[in-house]
Amino acid sequence: MAEFRTWVEIDLDKLKNNIACLQERLPQNSEFMAVVKANGYGHDAVAVSRICIEMGIKNFAVATLEEGIQLREAGISGRILILGYTVPQKAKTLIQYDLTQTIVDEKYAEILFAEVSERIKVHIAIDTGMSRIGFPEEPEKIENLLSKYESKYQIEGLFTHLCIADSFDKAARDFTYKQIAKFKSLIPIAECHGAKYNHFLNSAGGLFYSDDASKFVRYGIVMYGLKPDISLKLPEPISPILSWKAVIEMVKTIHKGDTVGYGCSFMATRDTIVATVAVGYADGYPRLLSNKGCVLLHGKRVPVIGRVCMDQLMIDITEIGDCVTPGETVTLVGSDGKETILIDELASSIGTIGYECVCNIARRVPRVFLQNGVAVHTIE
Ligand SMILES: *Cc1c(COP(=O)(O)O)cnc(C)c1O
Repeated sequence: MAEFRTWVEIDLDKLKNNIACLQERLPQNSEFMAVVKANGYGHDAVAVSRICIEMGIKNFAVATLEEGIQLREAGISGRILILGYTVPQKAKTLIQYDLTQTIVDEKYAEILFAEVSERIKVHIAIDTGMSRIGFPEEPEKIENLLSKYESKYQIEGLFTHLCIADSFDKAARDFTYKQIAKFKSLIPIAECHGAKYNHFLNSAGGLFYSDDASKFVRYGIVMYGLKPDISLKLPEPISPILSWKAVIEMVKTIHKGDTVGYGCSFMATRDTIVATVAVGYADGYPRLLSNKGCVLLHGKRVPVIGRVCMDQLMIDITEIGDCVTPGETVTLVGSDGKETILIDELASSIGTIGYECVCNIARRVPRVFLQNGVAVHTIE
């Protein structure tokens, strides 16, 4: 019997395989930076980080101050870079927890500096084309900035973000090469000012634009075995590490003309065996999969019928028959027998990306870890 109504399983042995494969492909002079923001893309940041440490990884990236603190409080050592915005009033907390902050622009640099007397560790974001954060990539300006700030901050490096490295038409490739060239022209300037850790590769960059001028490869999505873009092929041994299960709470037969769920959006056209499953959109199962999604039961795909509710959903199990009993487990994401539901495909079917679907798996869904084939609840 299942221990929870719904839960996620994270296969840490597969995570190790993914990391090992990516480590082998690292450019010669680059280090692995594990991106564990958003609770490790929903996979549990602390557990994933502990495995990273076991695998020799010394650099981590998160999105927020609180995510950085969570890792430190769990005893994660090494560099923790906050890729996003921290409110300047929390500057002291950055120092207290030895976190490295991204400087998003000049105004932010001034405000943050004014908050503390100690030198905060920073990486300076450079905008090479994404127009999200960063200083414009003009060499003279960067030279001036580095001179101005090197006495105020401990500047570890510059970084930029590739925004179309997961696409291969000519325009996309030209764009990416241009971003890389712009960034690389700044590296000698940064190095002159003692900023040694300059980096520009994310998952797609690391896979398709490998370059040892990038001192870190910031591996996120691919470490979890998912694709930056559905059309891509990942290196052979890399595989998804997350599966998601839920329990059937009741089974009943409805008749032709009966309807299912809110809005009566599904109407039975025959006698239909319906199972109610204990998972819903408050758990992160997308409501857009109403009358559209599938789950796996007894190694077969069965359809979600009616609208996905907050905490429950209904499936049509007529094809499987009345042998199904409450307490049985369905697979929302993952494999059952020969059938597999990939998060990337599920995401694509509702017009989004795997990133969003894993991030949206709610905190209330327990994470169970598989290590050496055994299920455990915490990773020491
Ligand atoms: C999220 C993020 C990454 C990781 O991206 P993936 O596509 O998951 O590898 C790397 N760098 C920055 C700046 C990010 O925000």
